[in-house]
Amino acid sequence: PRRRAFELHSDHLNPGGRIPLGLKAKSMRVLVTGGSGFVGSHLVDRLMARGDNVIVVDNFFTGRKDNVLHHLRNPRFELIRHDVVEPILLEVDQIYHLACPASPVHYKYNPVKTIISFFLDGYCDHKTNVVGTLNMLGLAKRINARFLLTSTSEVYGDPLEHPQVETYWGNVNPIGVRSCYDEGKRVAETLTMDYHRGLNIEVRIARIFNTYGPRMCLDDGRVVSNFVAQALRKEPMTVYGDGKQTRSFQYVSDLVEGLMRLMEGEHVGPFNLGNPGEFTMLELAKVVQDTIDPNAKIEFRPNTEDDPHKRKPDISRVTELLGWQPVVPLREGLPLMVSDFQQRIFGDLKEGDS
Ligand code: NAD
Ligand code: UDP
Ligand code: UDP
Repeated sequence: PRRRAFELHSDHLNPGGRIPLGLKAKSMRVLVTGGSGFVGSHLVDRLMARGDNVIVVDNFFTGRKDNVLHHLRNPRFELIRHDVVEPILLEVDQIYHLACPASPVHYKYNPVKTIISFFLDGYCDHKTNVVGTLNMLGLAKRINARFLLTSTSEVYGDPLEHPQVETYWGNVNPIGVRSCYDEGKRVAETLTMDYHRGLNIEVRIARIFNTYGPRMCLDDGRVVSNFVAQALRKEPMTVYGDGKQTRSFQYVSDLVEGLMRLMEGEHVGPFNLGNPGEFTMLELAKVVQDTIDPNAKIEFRPNTEDDPHKRKPDISRVTELLGWQPVVPLREGLPLMVSDFQQRIFGDLKEGDS
């Protein structure tokens, strides 16, 4: 298995003689696709802090340059505007493949308060998940890099087993409105395993459960970002359906720790990466009220089609094999996200006002 490369320090690299000669860890060259997005940019922060050389490939579909702005002047960092649907030639040791239009912005609200769910980017979802993943696997093959796929708990669909274990095959409607995301990731997992089994590529698969934190898109339609932005703007929090459906919310730093352990470890996976703390949407609304504004109102809206009724990761496998488990509970993580949203929402307003 590929390990961190070591090199012998020679005198010309150590002219002052202050650093004792010997083995020094050579920094890793890491590609992060989707690295200017929410999760990707937090991962990039950790890799940069570790001393790696990091290349971000992103088409800025949902990601923002702002998220990685603080690295732009660092010679160890490189940002490439590129769509992974097109082939690319790079030389790296590891590939974290996150690029994917991941947020449910395709669910649009119309003025008469009826949900019309239609796909603005269904084609794009599939193309990125299928062709984009194929290209990154082809890249991994050519340069013999280790490849990590960020899959999703959505591969379990509307699950008939609870909590979800990695061995559960899922319950996905292949022709439903959500299927381009769910099935897109399922295909990406299949491709990843095909390259692993057929071509001996070193791969890792993470199945990520709902994650929140600073730098989430303000208006991407996900529940935590919606509730937080709504409560801050003194708008009612929109609860879809009866609000009794459940999700398990993981703070982004826990996820990044899990992704890095998975990449560095010796197990292919798939591994669930999520926080087993399970909340109904009404309970989540209560946590947001307690954190931001006890008087924040709730407004019920019709639910979207094929909405999974419940979701909660079984993390015994990843805890046993990678020694990972989340450490930030919702009530501790949410305030960190709220201060970031506060600054971005009211900072923007001030800019607009002046
Ligand atoms: P995000 O939208 O913030 O990040 C995705 C990034 O990929 C963005 O920067 C976007 O511009 C980029 N991108 C999209 N299509 C691309 C393309 N064709 N070429 C190049 N770049 C492209 O979303 P995120 O929440 O950070 O998600 C990161 C990964 O984690 C995704 O693969 C997502 O499916 C997975 N995931 C996230 C969650 C979650 O709750 N955040 C849950 C499950 C899985
Ligand atoms: N690919 C890429 N960069 C590389 C190597 C391959 O983008 O450095 C793309 C390539 O264009 C192809 C895909 O990855 O579309 C799969 O490559 P692979 O070599 O596995 O398949 P083949 O080209 O033999 O069909
Ligand atoms: N949801 C909600 N209000 C919102 C946005 C979402 O009640 O403003 C619900 C949605 O119906 C779903 C849950 O929150 O049951 C999680 O939705 P999200 O899109 O965040 O994640 P996913 O469904 O992909 O797990």
